[in-house]
Amino acid sequence: MKTLGSLKFRNRFVDSLPADSDGSNHCRQVLEACYSRVKPVRASAPSLIAYSREMAQTLELSTPLEEPETFVEVFSGNRILPGMSPYAACYGGHQFGNWAGQLGDGRAIGLGEVVTSEGQGWELQLKGAGPTPYSRRGDGFAVMRSSVREFLCSEAMFHLGVPTTRALSLINTGDRVVRDMFYSGNPAPEPGAVVCRVAPSFLRFGNFEIFAARGDVDTLQKLVDYTIKAHYPHLGEPSQEVYLEWFKQVCRDTATMIVHWMRVGFVHGVMNTDNMSILGLTIDYGPYGWLEGYDPGWTPNTTDAGRSRYCYGNQPRIALWNLARLAEAIYPLLKEGDILGDILNSYAETSARSYAEMMVEKIGLQQFQGELGEESGDGELISDLQRVMQLAETDMTILFRKLAELPLEKDGAPEELLELLMDAFYEQDDLKSEYKEEWLDWLLRYRTRARQDGTSDEERRMKMNAVNPKYVMRNYIAQLAIDKAEKGDGSLVDEILEVMRHPYDEQPKHEEWAKKRPEWARHRPGCSMLSCSS
Ligand code: AMP
Ligand code: MG
Repeated sequence: MKTLGSLKFRNRFVDSLPADSDGSNHCRQVLEACYSRVKPVRASAPSLIAYSREMAQTLELSTPLEEPETFVEVFSGNRILPGMSPYAACYGGHQFGNWAGQLGDGRAIGLGEVVTSEGQGWELQLKGAGPTPYSRRGDGFAVMRSSVREFLCSEAMFHLGVPTTRALSLINTGDRVVRDMFYSGNPAPEPGAVVCRVAPSFLRFGNFEIFAARGDVDTLQKLVDYTIKAHYPHLGEPSQEVYLEWFKQVCRDTATMIVHWMRVGFVHGVMNTDNMSILGLTIDYGPYGWLEGYDPGWTPNTTDAGRSRYCYGNQPRIALWNLARLAEAIYPLLKEGDILGDILNSYAETSARSYAEMMVEKIGLQQFQGELGEESGDGELISDLQRVMQLAETDMTILFRKLAELPLEKDGAPEELLELLMDAFYEQDDLKSEYKEEWLDWLLRYRTRARQDGTSDEERRMKMNAVNPKYVMRNYIAQLAIDKAEKGDGSLVDEILEVMRHPYDEQPKHEEWAKKRPEWARHRPGCSMLSCSS
């Protein structure tokens, strides 16, 4: 394990790609450049709220507790280590379906890539360390509440096995940041924070779109070639063919990420193309949420409440829409545009298949039986489950854990099975009368189908519990951690992170964090609906 001073850095992104020729830090359109050089703003009294020991280990960095002052100085942005080369990237994006022009790292500053002894590069990025040429109307800072949410959720996603950017540290800057949390004309000061995010690359679809939109094919090609050489070396030297292979890979990685989101009940909330990682990592944890009551139409984002463009059930479709925007962006580099369309079509099919396979795994079946998209076979069993889950408010996470415990090998009244699921329902009375028959019907069909596989109850339970988490980053739990962190106390952030390290395990000591959302949280801001204010 190394101290901070002995980490090895490289800066492939800034060393290989065109830089902004203007070195000043004011908001502007930055042309024919992939980034601008910037410096973080000094935090006045930084202190450590939390850190991820797994992330530190991956970076081969000794624990922050061995050199706490240096750690806080570096990851608040107050000290730039030799070898670091701070920058903000230029990107654009489609927001809520419309081209939004230049966006860019408005409050994220890349520090450089740490290279591990095995040669793996990890980019470090400070989120909330001050303005850049891309800050537009923003101040470049971040508040504690959104930073706790990003820190906790990105690490939780990692432990859940979902591709994601990571977080190394969460630091209280000691400064106040003014936000109008509900966009209601009531701005108020809040504690400021900086998260150090970590990923092999923070490139987004929008990094490519901006050059295509400006007709700057030269810079576009430089960026695509760089991306392939740096992050897809196995594809070989960039060429027409390699561009297509690369795009296919991006499609596959994106599809994989979305299927994981659907599996664990994660709703990103702002799937704009500037928030889509080229590596298929979950990125930009803003007004995300977790399905509690199962509702495919649910979006946690108040800004999206009217149209619900980014609701849970739309995520696969939106990913495809976003990939089509990426396809348009790289089109100028290709002679054969039609092939991109073919790739997108095959993405749609592959992702529907992976989704179906994931759903049968969630209910403990061995293999999807039947035709995709047909209302028969396993497809029908799954869609009927999704329908009955919406009759009475049903906690998605708890339901799948309870389904895993059902004794299906032995005969018995289906009412007994339903009784075993009761914990998953928010209004249990609804199940006793109105919706009972439909649930009983589904349970009987499920039992028949599960028996065909010949899997024992025990084996089925183990398989299901490996894909259905017991613990997810419920919004109200994050909010409780925020309440403390805003007072400078990171103890609940630590406790929750500890629980989220083993999301698939039974943890009798932490049973409370696996419970249904309490009633008080149903309408409390931050617990059910979130604005983009962060
Ligand atoms: P988001 O909706 O969080 O993905 O942000 C969209 C764009 O706004 C990105 O370019 C961000 O860098 C920028 N942005 C968001 N909040 C701020 C802020 N407080 N200061 C500067 N830029 C911001
Ligand atoms: Mg963003």
